[in-house]
Amino acid sequence: MHKKINTVYILGAGFSCYAALPTQQEIVRQLFNHQELSGPPDINEILTAIIRDFLASVFQIRSLDEHAPTLEDIYTCIDLSAQTGHFLGQAYTPKKLQAIRQLLTHRIFQILEKRYQPSPAISQLLEHVLQKENSAFISLNWDMVLEKHLAPLGCRPDYQCSIQPLTDFAADNQRIPVCKLHGSANWAYCDNCKYLFFDPDTQTALHDQLFLFPHDFSLFGYTPPAASFSSLACPHCRIPHLSTHIVTFSFRKNFRTNYFSCLWHQAEMLLQQADRWVFIGYSLPQADYQFKHLLKSAQLIMGESHLPELTVITKNNGKELSPSVVRYLRFFGDCMSSRNIYQHGIDEYVANHYHLPAAPPSV
Ligand SMILES: [Zn+2]
Repeated sequence: MHKKINTVYILGAGFSCYAALPTQQEIVRQLFNHQELSGPPDINEILTAIIRDFLASVFQIRSLDEHAPTLEDIYTCIDLSAQTGHFLGQAYTPKKLQAIRQLLTHRIFQILEKRYQPSPAISQLLEHVLQKENSAFISLNWDMVLEKHLAPLGCRPDYQCSIQPLTDFAADNQRIPVCKLHGSANWAYCDNCKYLFFDPDTQTALHDQLFLFPHDFSLFGYTPPAASFSSLACPHCRIPHLSTHIVTFSFRKNFRTNYFSCLWHQAEMLLQQADRWVFIGYSLPQADYQFKHLLKSAQLIMGESHLPELTVITKNNGKELSPSVVRYLRFFGDCMSSRNIYQHGIDEYVANHYHLPAAPPSV
């Protein structure tokens, strides 16, 4: 029997910014820069050319310095056409659009990996959480920022679904429930036997090129040498190329496997039993309308006399309320107490919540 979870931490993109990961806007601006990214240079160069041609043709954008479409707009346009079997302009067939979404997501993973740096603020928070609380995490991020900060503390995520390890790791580690509702960069999925796997330490989706297939490149007239490609065979049914298990920025999110139903159900169960919800760097974006519905449903399940306490941790340099705090006030109304809104980040929250002496803020 598991102990009751008291606090659930809900992590958004702002949490990963503590580990120097770029915002969505910054990611878009870097889509054409393949220098210093991991992987074979010839593949990286072709990837840039394909993404550049796509943005020029569909959005009439040739430089990303000033104006760039949002990732939500890019993915939503791709998904609405591809999922209904339609073209997006004369050149982009549904097949090409599906290839573009794979290649684009690979490029985003490359950019995220390049920028990662450990965060003292996250480490300090997690030390307190692991020592003093019975907590769980719900993450909307694909990156491994949480995993990389838990490992040095002797803790590993329990991903709350029947997922198999790809490599061995110490079984005596402390485990903490972690629901990654949009999948994870270290997960691999078999489209044949439908097993889900995870690598404890590396972004297998990127390093084993799970997004990249030679036939996708040939759709655009490119034939990189076979030596530039790698793949990962399924440990269960042995097909030669595992796939990925992530959901992208889109208003038309595709939760195509049963694992997502399981993960979302587990997340709702965790939220229902917790007395406190702590949002870190999560801005309640409109594209996450399914998750917002899940939050509202879980909040109300035990009746209005048993509502969880809500805390929001964000970053805001001005004196006014940040736009994301305003979104919380609009969505949760009187449940939001001003004493539980931290606009100066994780450091402010840790010092206040765990009654520590004031320390200079770290990033
Ligand atoms: Zn398989």
